Amino acid sequence: MTQFTVFGNPIAHSVSPKIHQLFAEQFGLALTYSRSLSSSATFAAAVAKFFRHGGAGANVTVPFKESAAALVTHLTPRAERAASVNTLIPLGLGQLAGDTTDGLGLCRDLQRLTQQKTPAPRVLVIGGGGAARSVIEPLQELGCEVVISNRSRDRVQPLTTVFEGLEILDFAELERPPTDVFKDSQWLVINATSASLKGAELPIHPHWFANANLVYDMMYAAQTTPFLQQARKGGAVQVADGLGMLVEQAALSFALWHDGLQPSTEPVLDALRKGLR
Ligand code: NDP
Repeated sequence: MTQFTVFGNPIAHSVSPKIHQLFAEQFGLALTYSRSLSSSATFAAAVAKFFRHGGAGANVTVPFKESAAALVTHLTPRAERAASVNTLIPLGLGQLAGDTTDGLGLCRDLQRLTQQKTPAPRVLVIGGGGAARSVIEPLQELGCEVVISNRSRDRVQPLTTVFEGLEILDFAELERPPTDVFKDSQWLVINATSASLKGAELPIHPHWFANANLVYDMMYAAQTTPFLQQARKGGAVQVADGLGMLVEQAALSFALWHDGLQPSTEPVLDALRKGLR
């Protein structure tokens, strides 16, 4: 039976095994998909061991997407620009390819939620880790102007040389109402930090939420995430968690591992929503 896994920390909450089982059932495939808890000290060795023992593919989640990009022997151009890998594909002879499907997965979910090809003219992405970086290019390709804001500015400053047109907003600015440039357009707010995973709120003025078309948290949970609670309190009209993104990025990874097979995502998303509640 072909073996897949997801590396991360924390990882117990991950529903990726369930998603890939449901995808496999659509095609009558038999596979195993496990969760692999790693630490920064053990990640590289755990990946090498998994593929040495015949692993057919792996996902990588928080906080190892950058480490995975540094580890592989081949990077797709989009993963190289984002310096982020969420999908590992064995190439044989110890070689490993790395790709990122997070950005396209998010875009598909935003298009479904907004029913628009361009989900909004402007998108504020909060965060600067692998997930945040991998969504910039696909959002720009949909015609969105992307503004990024991260607690550690030095982590995102170099991105302006990689992604033309990317704007940086100082993290402290989030504590004030949106600037004029935002007031004149419609926008989305996306939380791409891992703060919700730790139960923490972010220091954001409520007007960022009240005037946004959609507030999105990449994290998903059975209960409303701390960020989306904050957004609701701030007056957000529409909020969404990252379950749709998770299913969409998983479908793209599945296709990479299974010769382009495209699973249906809607029934899987429905099943997970029912299972989470
Ligand atoms: P990383 O560990 O690479 O990055 C974490 C980011 O969060 C950094 O920018 C960090 O800022 C920021 N951060 C953490 N805590 C706080 C805080 N208390 N206040 C402000 N900023 C904070 O993680 P990833 O980029 O891989 O993942 C980020 C999130 O996105 C996770 O919750 C993950 O589960 C989710 N995700 C969901 C996906 C989905 O399919 N739904 C796919 C990918 C990710 P700093 O640089 O200052 O440390």
